[in-house]
Amino acid sequence: MLICPVCNGIIDYIGICPNCKSQMKVQDRVETYFDEYAQNLEQNLLENSKQVCSHYCYCENCGKTTTVKIEKIQE
Ligand SMILES: [Zn+2]
Ligand SMILES: [Zn+2]
Repeated sequence: MLICPVCNGIIDYIGICPNCKSQMKVQDRVETYFDEYAQNLEQNLLENSKQVCSHYCYCENCGKTTTVKIEKIQE
């Protein structure tokens, strides 16, 4: 079974902010945020949802948010 290592606390993913190169904090899964927009989600996000888990990254320095796709691993 494939699990997301970030959701399951196996790894601490650290992103780098494209704006200011600070470390970004990984937040919840994108799906958590976008529940109400679920119908508008890009097709490829849905198609990939079995292999990757999308998370928000937030830069505490400049406030930028990005989405990262975390590759799921075999449990
Ligand atoms: Zn995840
Ligand atoms: Zn930043």
